Amino acid sequence: MPGFEFFGEEERKEVNEVLETGILMRYGFDGPRKGRWKAKELEQAITEVFGCKYAQLTSSGTSALTTAMAALGIGAGDEIIMPCFTFVASFEAVLSVGAIPVLVDIDETLTLKPAAVRAAISPRTKCIMPVHMCGSPADLGALQEICNEHKLILLEDACQSIGAKYKGRSLGTIGDAGTFSFDFVKTITCAEGGVVMTNKEDVYVKSDGYTDHGHDHKGIDRGADLHPFIGYNYRISELHAAVGLAQIRKLDTFLSIQKKNCMALRDALSTVPEISFREVPEGGEDSCTFLSWLLPTEALTKAVVEEMKAQGILAGSFYWYSNNWHYISKWDHLKQATTLHNINPDQKAALLKLADTKFEASDAVMSRCISTAISLMWTEEQRKDKAEKMVAAVRKVLQAQLQQA
Ligand SMILES: *Cc1c(COP(=O)(O)O)cnc(C)c1O
Repeated sequence: MPGFEFFGEEERKEVNEVLETGILMRYGFDGPRKGRWKAKELEQAITEVFGCKYAQLTSSGTSALTTAMAALGIGAGDEIIMPCFTFVASFEAVLSVGAIPVLVDIDETLTLKPAAVRAAISPRTKCIMPVHMCGSPADLGALQEICNEHKLILLEDACQSIGAKYKGRSLGTIGDAGTFSFDFVKTITCAEGGVVMTNKEDVYVKSDGYTDHGHDHKGIDRGADLHPFIGYNYRISELHAAVGLAQIRKLDTFLSIQKKNCMALRDALSTVPEISFREVPEGGEDSCTFLSWLLPTEALTKAVVEEMKAQGILAGSFYWYSNNWHYISKWDHLKQATTLHNINPDQKAALLKLADTKFEASDAVMSRCISTAISLMWTEEQRKDKAEKMVAAVRKVLQAQLQQA
């Protein structure tokens, strides 16, 4: 799953090249940097590897989402339709630009349920933001159709799905803009970092300025840059970009190991007829960072989680339904609008409303789903052992249930 498992000589070499010049900043200092531009080089590599026209690096995946929203003109009063199963960063970014997160159900793709999106559209809807959770795409065809019909922006939160595809194109490059995170547990890591990808020149130019205090980056002298609009500092450093540069060169290796390990685990779990797997929309290609599997009922799933815990084999497997970071059921701070400062009354009202909103369709999926992270480091023996133990734990629970019945 995470690139940090493969940290080594290549990353050290790239970082040392930056340390040799001491120019840790991505802009300016043209002479002393001796032609070393790690952030620029990484942006170029991202456009080539993922097939988009423009890439703007940022300090994190969260700031990449904020930047993309600002560059797309999403702000106060605008509603963004997003899923109720995601990482907290997705709604943090929405709130940061003054927009209103409208959370809706997911389906067995573990991403936005298109019918729920349709039902949530209002005159204030500005954007649909699918989150391609756990390595696999949302039904982008259906979502794009809704966007075209209602003239909405499509922004892809692809932070967890580096290397996954939809109809042959990389996730994150299909909507009006898309983002990756390069935080420490993502498929490739910079320690902290992110990127906005787009094929639209104006979105790129705005993202470029927004992440650097609104600088227009037109002059050779930073001090003489103009500020066509107000920005922030969401810059990545050269040290972080250097790590990312070494990592992106290893992406194909990461993905092929993930796929091999994931398929082997899937084959083993498939021998249990009660186990099913997350749905991948037609034309979708899973990056296999996780294997997400489902059991027939919530009770069985909880029993399997308990059994795995008791056997000491739960590490690396996640029951998101009762996890504090990823599912609406546990986001009390969001539902109570607990912020450190006043927020726009529209935003506050929308958040408080979430407390009485039911997500039954999502509960029905999430309460039965376990995601197992796929390690790049498993030996064949470890992988087999893990699979055998998981299958045995599930069979034991199923057997016990049968005896009860
Ligand atoms: C990791 C992640 C982000 C952004 O995270 P950062 O830690 O800020 O880089 C955004 N959305 C999702 C779904 C994520 O998993």
